[in-house]
Amino acid sequence: MATTTGIGWDVHPLVPDRPLVLGGVRIPSPLGLAGHSDADVLTHAVIDALLGAAGLGDIGELFPDTEERWRGADSIGLLREVRPLVLASGHEIVHVDATVLLERPKLLPHKEAMRENLAGALELAVVHVNVKATRGEGMGFVGRVEGGAALAIATLETR
Ligand code: MG
Repeated sequence: MATTTGIGWDVHPLVPDRPLVLGGVRIPSPLGLAGHSDADVLTHAVIDALLGAAGLGDIGELFPDTEERWRGADSIGLLREVRPLVLASGHEIVHVDATVLLERPKLLPHKEAMRENLAGALELAVVHVNVKATRGEGMGFVGRVEGGAALAIATLETR
C-alpha cells in the first residue's frame, strides 16, 4: 500500500449578478464568482487535488470549459463523477484539506455546510474533509475583491 498526494489550485473572478457558490453552498453576497460552470472555486481545487493524487490529469481535461454541456454545471455533481474515476484508478480517498481565499463575505458560518457537501460527494466521513478560509488582508487580487481562489490537497492510498 502506498500513499499519494495531489495539489489543487483554482481562481475565478468576482463579478456582480453571479451567485457565490463554494463547496456547493450558495452564499449570500453582492458579488459572485464568474466561470463556465457554477465557478465553485473550492470544489474545482478539490477535484484537481484528487485527480493529481490519482495521476488522472486535471479538471480541464475531464470537463473542458469549451463544452456546452458543462455550462452552469453544478461542481459538486462533477466531484461526484470524479470519485468513481479515482476508485477505478486503484485508490481509496483518505483525506481532503482545502483553503478558500476570499476577502468577503465571512465564510465561517458556511464552512461546516461546505465540508458536509464535499464529504457527501466523496462518500467520506465529514472528519476526513476539512475546509479553511482566509482573506487577502487588502493585498493582491483577493484583497482587492477582484477574485476568489482555493487551494486543496488530497491524500489517497493505493489499493
Ligand atoms: Mg475553476
